[in-house]
Amino acid sequence: MPNMSLTKVPVPEQDPNVRNHNFKEVCLGYTPEQAVEEATRCLNCKNMPCVAGCPVNIHIPEFVAKVAAGDFKAAYEIISDTNALPGVSGRVCPQESQCEQRCVRGIKGEPVAIGRLERFVADWYREHINEMPQKPQTNGIKVAVVGSGPASLTCASDLAKKGYEVTMFEAFHTAGGVLVYGIPEFRLPKAIVANEVDKLTAMGVDLETDMVVGRTYTIDEMFDDGYQAVFVGSGAGLPMFMGIEGETLAGVYSANEYLTRINLMKAYLSDYDTPIKKIQKAAIVGGGNVAMDAARCAKRMGAEHVYVVYRRDEEAMPARNEEIHHAKEEGIEFLFLTNPTRILGDDKGQVRAMECLKMELGEPDDSGRRRPIEVKGSEFELEVDAVIMSLGTSPNPLIRSTTPGLETNRKGCLIADDSMATTREGVYAGGDAVTGAATVILAMGAGKKAAESMDQYLKSKQK
Ligand code: FAD
Ligand code: SF4
Ligand code: SF4
Repeated sequence: MPNMSLTKVPVPEQDPNVRNHNFKEVCLGYTPEQAVEEATRCLNCKNMPCVAGCPVNIHIPEFVAKVAAGDFKAAYEIISDTNALPGVSGRVCPQESQCEQRCVRGIKGEPVAIGRLERFVADWYREHINEMPQKPQTNGIKVAVVGSGPASLTCASDLAKKGYEVTMFEAFHTAGGVLVYGIPEFRLPKAIVANEVDKLTAMGVDLETDMVVGRTYTIDEMFDDGYQAVFVGSGAGLPMFMGIEGETLAGVYSANEYLTRINLMKAYLSDYDTPIKKIQKAAIVGGGNVAMDAARCAKRMGAEHVYVVYRRDEEAMPARNEEIHHAKEEGIEFLFLTNPTRILGDDKGQVRAMECLKMELGEPDDSGRRRPIEVKGSEFELEVDAVIMSLGTSPNPLIRSTTPGLETNRKGCLIADDSMATTREGVYAGGDAVTGAATVILAMGAGKKAAESMDQYLKSKQK
């Protein structure tokens, strides 16, 4: 008999007033008993609506059934059949709008906690077995992968499994892309990403860090050196600014820079001397997941007041509900329907305040959301000593500008067809570099598809 409880088994979390002073993981994960109890809520539906909601088509009912039976190793094997990074997706996937949104248990009550179960299985495997994959038999064909975010990690993993000799070129000194430089430790511990990278190197993938493709090494040079196909998963790391007065003052950061200093360069650890401003009052401009991460990091770095300044209302915020909920619990203050107009500095060129205008909502715009309209005469000054702009990102033009034949659309995203082939023969692309800023699981899906297409392309070339 399935467990007909209408609610998910709650997952233990660190207390909000404790966790907002540390960078340890917020969610503590299910115990084996809790995982089994939650898994018994699954009805093992024949038509598997949940699977259609997963961009990498994990066989959800099968792995959940193995969890219910207490066979966590078998559950891991089912997940890892289609998902190269389960410890990552189980933590950061927007499950509520994907697999869990389609779960029939969600019609009356809460859906099965598929993400929490996936995370449990990945953690259990890492803690109890953690067998490194074998190096597959090589076919002698060299392929290059640019970047090492989820798109590139997945593509490299699938190509290595097929026997290709893969070299991954990463601009930073550490592999993982946004998983290591953007998403904070308290949501995704870096040891989990490092473990996934270790699995790749165990399969024979050669990781070359500090390699800025387009500057240190070009795609043309890769082909000259015998690489027969290239995957570009260079992400969308170029931050946007508002173009308002005061954005060059000391104390104004892009969220990417602020998060990179904290996550990749470990500014939160006392034994690292990464420079970062000691903020008392921070304004985070924007309403997405990146804004929530920047706000929660600023709080943990000791800021007394952290304001999220967003020009629409709470309902229109693009951040996941869970992130907004966690941020509120941790004491982040939200200023909705508020838009910055300029940043004010003191006589030393440091931020001292941000001038804002109140907004109201008008008719829906192209995005379907109601357009924010300025309320005349509503200017006010928000006293802050740092402003963190979190307005979105776009792809860096470096690779396009140094690779003849590679075309981009008007947003600067690489153009790729359904097979992830770009406009340059032998060059494939996927993830944020193609879609613009999106999600981890979509990037992984694109990396997977590209590996399949590259394999077909390379096989057709050998004939
Ligand atoms: P990236 O992860 O951006 O990786 C690209 C890699 O390419 C980087 O390592 C970069 O250094 C490297 N690179 C770039 N140019 C070059 C070059 N010229 N030469 C060599 N290497 C290069 N998504 C979710 O699903 N859930 C979340 O909770 C979530 N939170 C997020 C929080 C933050 C702070 C940010 C910034 C993003 C978040 N996202 C989240 C989005 C998600 O992380 C991205 O959609 C995803 O990482 C894109 O993967 P990717 O492989 O395309 O690129
Ligand atoms: Fe759901 Fe994401 Fe896991 Fe797919 S990868 S089953 S969408 S949590
Ligand atoms: Fe289980 Fe929900 Fe999927 Fe049905 S839809 S198989 S209940 S997870």
